[in-house]
Amino acid sequence: MHLYQSALMNRAAVAAVRYDRDTPDPPGGQIVRDRLGEPIGLVLASPAASVLYSTLAKGPVLGNEEKLESTRHFLRELNRFGLTSAIDAAGGFQDFPEDYGTVMQLAERGELTVRVAYHLFPQTAGQELDDLRRWIAMVKPGDGDQWLRANGAGENLAWTAADYENFAEPRPQLLERAAADLEASARLLVESGWGFRLHATYDETIRQDLDVLERIARDTGGSLGVPWLFDHAETISDRSIDRLTSLGGNVSVQNRLYFQGKVFQSRYGPSATEWAPPVTKLLSAGLTVAAGTDATRVSSYNPWLALHWLTTGTDVAGSQLSAPANIVDRDTALGMYTIAGAKLSGESESKGSIQVGKYADLAVLSADYFCIADAEIPFIEAELTVVGGRIVYASDVYEGQAEPLAPPSMGWSPVVHFGGYHRSASGLAQARQLEEASADSAEQRAWRERRGERVAQHVHDPLDVNENAC
Ligand SMILES: [Zn+2]
Repeated sequence: MHLYQSALMNRAAVAAVRYDRDTPDPPGGQIVRDRLGEPIGLVLASPAASVLYSTLAKGPVLGNEEKLESTRHFLRELNRFGLTSAIDAAGGFQDFPEDYGTVMQLAERGELTVRVAYHLFPQTAGQELDDLRRWIAMVKPGDGDQWLRANGAGENLAWTAADYENFAEPRPQLLERAAADLEASARLLVESGWGFRLHATYDETIRQDLDVLERIARDTGGSLGVPWLFDHAETISDRSIDRLTSLGGNVSVQNRLYFQGKVFQSRYGPSATEWAPPVTKLLSAGLTVAAGTDATRVSSYNPWLALHWLTTGTDVAGSQLSAPANIVDRDTALGMYTIAGAKLSGESESKGSIQVGKYADLAVLSADYFCIADAEIPFIEAELTVVGGRIVYASDVYEGQAEPLAPPSMGWSPVVHFGGYHRSASGLAQARQLEEASADSAEQRAWRERRGERVAQHVHDPLDVNENAC
C-alpha cells in the first residue's frame, strides 16, 4: 500500500484476490487493466483507502508459526535501520486484541527486538463507544512493560471524524455528525483518564476537533488532564497551533509529502506546500513534535527518508518543497525521532537518549549523520543495533554478532527472492562486500602468497575506519 492512494500486487496476489477481466471496479476504487482488460496488479483509491484494505483482506491468512516468523523478520528489518522503539498508532482493520496476538506472543517469549507502545483504534463505525468501554475495562495506558505497553486510544476515535488523506484527491468532507461522534469518544476517554492521539490532516478537521476538545475542557476545569496529540497536521493554521498549545496537546509529523509533495503542490499551490506541515512553527510554540513515517500503510518504514525530508525540505526526487524557514537542522530532526518519541509514550526517563540509567538501546550507523552530505542521508543504515543490551542487528564489520534469526521458511515470500534492501547495498557497503569476497577467495589468497604479498587476516579493523570524519 502506498499513501492511501494505491496498492500494488504481484501476479500471485492478483490471482489470490481473484481479480480478472470480468471483475467490475469496486465502489470508490479502480482496478487498473492492460489493453486486454486484464488487471495489471495496481489498484487505485478514489478517493478513500477502503478499497485498498478490502482488496488486501482478500489474500490468504498466515498460520500462527508463519505470523511469528514473518513478524520476527519485520522487526529485524526495522533494526536494520537502527530503530529500537516504535509507537504503533494502529490502523484500520487492526482489531484489538485479536490482531495483536503475534506481537504479544513474541513479547511473552522475550523475542521482541523493537519496543512497542500501541494505541487502540475502534474498528467499527457506530460501535466506537462500545469498543472503547470494553478496552477501558481491560487495560489502562502505561500497562505492560518496557517492551510492550498500552499508550492510549487513537489515532481514530470515531470513524466519521477521520479525514483520510490522499492528496491526489480533493479534501474529504466530514459528515455533519462527525463532531458529535468525536465528542462522545473523547469525553469517555478524558473521564477515564485515557490519553489519545487523533488523526487530522487538514486544518478544517483540526479546527472542528479543537472545538470539541475545548468544549470538553470547559467542563473539566479548563484542561483535558490527559496526554493527547494530533497526527499529521499538514495544513494546521497559526490560530490552531495557538489553540492546540493552550489545550496542552502535541503533534506527530510524518514524511508523506516526501512522496506526494508534487501532487500536494499542484492542488494547493507552492506557498501552502512550503509549510506542510509547519514543523518549525510547531517547535517554536514549545510543543513536543515527534517524527515518524506513517509506515507501513502510507509510506516506507525507513526513518532516514523522514530525516532527509525534515532536514532538507525536499521530496524523494530532490524537488525543493519546504520554505527555508521550515527546515530543521539535523540535531533537531534527530531529537524529534528520539527524545520526542520517548516523551509521547511517557518514557523519556528511560529512552530517547544515550545516558546512564536509560535502557541500552543504540545503533552504530553506516555513516556519520551529522557530517555527510544531505544526499547521503537516505542511504544510512545501522551496522549494529542494540536493544536492551542485546545485539539484534549486525552487519559489515560486526557481521555474525547478532542474535540468530532463522531464514524465512515461506518459499513464496518475496523476501526470499529479493533478499531485502541489503541486496542493493550502498556504495561503501558494497565495496566492502566485494573486498571481503575477493580477500576470502582461496585462489586470490594463493595468488597473492605466490607473489610474496602479505595476506591480511582481517580486512577491516573497526578502529581504523574513519571514512566519514567531519
Ligand atoms: Zn493517520
